[in-house]
Order: sequence, then structure tokens, then C-alpha cells
Amino acid sequence: MDFELTDEQRAFRETLRAFVDKEIVPVATEWEHSGRYPAEIVDTMRRMGLFGLSVPEEYGGLGADMVSFALVFEEIARGWMGVAGILGSHSIACWMIARHGTDEQKRLHLPDLAAGARRTGIALTEPAAGTDLQGIRTRAVRDGDHYVVTGTKTWITNARHADPLPVLVKTAVTEPAHKGMSVLLVDPSAEGFTVSRDLPKLGYKGTETCEVVLDGVRVPASALLGGVEGRGMQQVLGGLETGRVNIAARAVGVAQAAYDAALSYARERTAFGQPIADFQAVQLKLADLATEIQAARLLTYWAASRADGGGRIDMEAGMAKYFASEVALKASLEAMRIHGGYGYSQEFVVERLYRDAPLMAIGEGTNDIQRLVIARALVAGKGRIGW
Ligand SMILES: Cc1cc2nc3c(=O)[nH]c(=O)nc-3n(C[C@H](O)[C@H](O)[C@H](O)COP(=O)(O)OP(=O)(O)OC[C@H]3O[C@@H](n4cnc5c(N)ncnc54)[C@H](O)[C@@H]3O)c2cc1C
Repeated sequence: MDFELTDEQRAFRETLRAFVDKEIVPVATEWEHSGRYPAEIVDTMRRMGLFGLSVPEEYGGLGADMVSFALVFEEIARGWMGVAGILGSHSIACWMIARHGTDEQKRLHLPDLAAGARRTGIALTEPAAGTDLQGIRTRAVRDGDHYVVTGTKTWITNARHADPLPVLVKTAVTEPAHKGMSVLLVDPSAEGFTVSRDLPKLGYKGTETCEVVLDGVRVPASALLGGVEGRGMQQVLGGLETGRVNIAARAVGVAQAAYDAALSYARERTAFGQPIADFQAVQLKLADLATEIQAARLLTYWAASRADGGGRIDMEAGMAKYFASEVALKASLEAMRIHGGYGYSQEFVVERLYRDAPLMAIGEGTNDIQRLVIARALVAGKGRIGW
């Protein structure tokens, strides 16, 4: 058993660390508070080739393994979770196109997406259906060589920058519902496509999260992902597994940032004539956090390496996402406690981490749903723990 990163993965992580420490950490708090879009950071990520993370090399991407994929999101989220979101939604959509797209769709989109010349996201959730994706109402009705799409999507990250935007639709009303679901790669310049509003959020700032209205949008049939109707749920579920590794890694990054801030503050802050890091009560918190963060990291890399081995990883990705996001929630709160009153101040980073952490327990399927996914795999005898 080898718990070490390869030399290549280690070098990649060092490059990412240097980028995050130089370009993201110094500006994150100020830009986040002012609601600024991090265009300069996005541009550097583009030049680093990070928008091609999940795009195969033959289409100009990095074709990264999943452990390297996780390292990217861990490091960037350590600097600013919102920036990780810009890259995350894009990477999941790229993964879906690379995995499920027709040759023509791959040739049409992947080179530009890998280069960051165009970007993307993924539109599944609707006002009345999030967890219950089979309950979506967005309909795509075939009309000659087009589909006519009508519906509303909500909570769509990157909506203002996505071209194309993969949209989960119903191409048929069937029983079971998932057999009538498909993904269309929608061109945002099409008539009837509107990003109708930006949703106000607790955290996860720096990236836009929007409502999208599709009002009779005509989408060419050639934009049907994979070219066959009825495969949308299957395509999306595969993408969500990748997405859960991404969320788990982001959670590890947020938790690590909270721990780093807490440790550094505890060494500097004195009370009763000594650094607060000398008090056992503070030490116990730090020990718990360090242990739990390392466990979350191991689960995340484990899920990622299982994905690299091929096959479905719904249980592994679910465990990693569930555990790591709970650790991030705890770490941000405990770091705030260690900071005392200053933890509640916008002048200290833990306030932002505390607002960013809850999203990881909600996005890509809530943690209760992860627990159900894990249980389902175990009960069906498909899930295996241990070695
Ligand atoms: C900042 C942000 C960004 C997002 N970005 C995107 C994006 O880019 N694209 C996208 O498509 N979506 C996105 N989402 C949506 C996100 O994926 C959904 O919010 C999430 O899947 C939960 O769906 P919901 O909000 O409709 O909650 P619901 O499905 O209504 O769930 C509400 C509660 O009911 C529980 N529940 C529901 N069903 C069950 C069940 N069967 N058993 C037990 N409990 C259940 C849930 O666990 C939860 O606690 C984003 C959300 C946020 C907040």
C-alpha cells in the first residue's frame, strides 16, 4: 500500500500551492467581501491549463488523473472556495462531454473549453426539483431537426459564462421518469435563453449562481449529449461522482485553511501570560481538527484513486464528500472559537470559511442523500469497505 503522491502529482501540487499563495490568498478576503469576480485569477488558471483538467490530452486538455484533479480543488479552495467553484462546475461538464459526447460534440467543444476560451457549467436543479431530479419539469419537444426547450433552472453556477450550458431536460414522459431524460448542450446566445437573476448567497462568492429561463429555446438535435435520448440521468450521475470528489477536495481545502489560521492564531495570541496554544483545551481542538482533516483527505484521495481504477465510485465519492464536508463545517466553527471575538470579524479569514463551508454539505447532493447512497450500496452488496 502506498500513501505517497507520485513525483508528478507532488510537483503539480507545489505549482498549485505557489499559485494559490501568490495570487489567491492575498486578495481573497477583500475581493470576496466586495463581491468582485476574480477575472485575473481566472485568467491565470486559463494560462496554467487548468480549464483542461478533465479534458483528454487529444483535445488539448491535461487529461489529469483523479488524484491530481482532487489536489487542484483542495489547493484552490484553501485559498478561496468560490474560485474552486468556477473551475469545478466547468470541469464536471467537460468530464461529461468527454465521457459521453459524440465525436462531433467533443471536437466542437473540448478544445475551446480546455483552453478556457469558452467555459461551461451544469444545469440540473429547478425551483421545484433538486434532490429529486426525476421531478424536473424542463421539457424538450422534438420539432424537425431541433428540440424546443422550455423550463427554469436555478442555482446554476457559472451561468453567465457557460457556452455551452449542459441542461438536463425531459425529452419524453416515461415511467420510470429517468428513461425520458436527456442532456442538451445549449448555446446561450439562442433566442429565449435568459440568465434571469443572480441568487443572493451566504458565501461561495466570486462565482455567479443564477436562475436560467429557457423560453421556447430552439436547440439543434446535434446538441443532444451522446446523440441518443434517454441517457441523461446516467450521464449526470457519472458526472456527479466526479463532482463529489471535487466537493470533498474543496472541503478538505477549506478545513485546512481553517486549521492553519487557528494554529497560527493560537501561537500568537496570548492570554494569562502565555500563548493560548499552550492551553490544553485549545490543543485538544487542534489535535481533533488535524486528525479529522487528515482522515477526510485520505478518504478523498481514496475515492479519487478508485475512480482512476475505472468503474463507478458512488459509495466512495459519497463517503468522501459526506465526511469531508462535515469536517469542514466543524473546522470552520472550531477555528472561529479559537479566534475568540476576532473569529467573528470580517478582518480574519475564518469568517469567510465559516460562510463557505455549509455549501459542501448541500451541493452535489445533500449529505443525507450521500448517506442514503452509501447505505444503498452497502445493502445491495455493491459497496465494499476495508482493503
Ligand atoms: C451555491 C449553490 C450552487 C449550486 N450550483 C448548482 C449548479 O451549478 N447546478 C445545479 O444543477 N445545481 C446547483 N446547486 C443546487 C444543489 O445541487 C441543490 O441545492 C441540492 O442538490 C439540493 O437540492 P434542493 O436545494 O432542491 O433541496 P431539496 O431536494 O428540496 O432537499 C431539501 C431537504 O430535503 C432532503 N431530502 C430530499 N429528498 C430526500 C430523500 N429522498 N430522503 C431524505 N431526505 C431528502 C434533503 O436532504 C434536504 O435536507 C447549487 C446550490 C447552491 C446552494
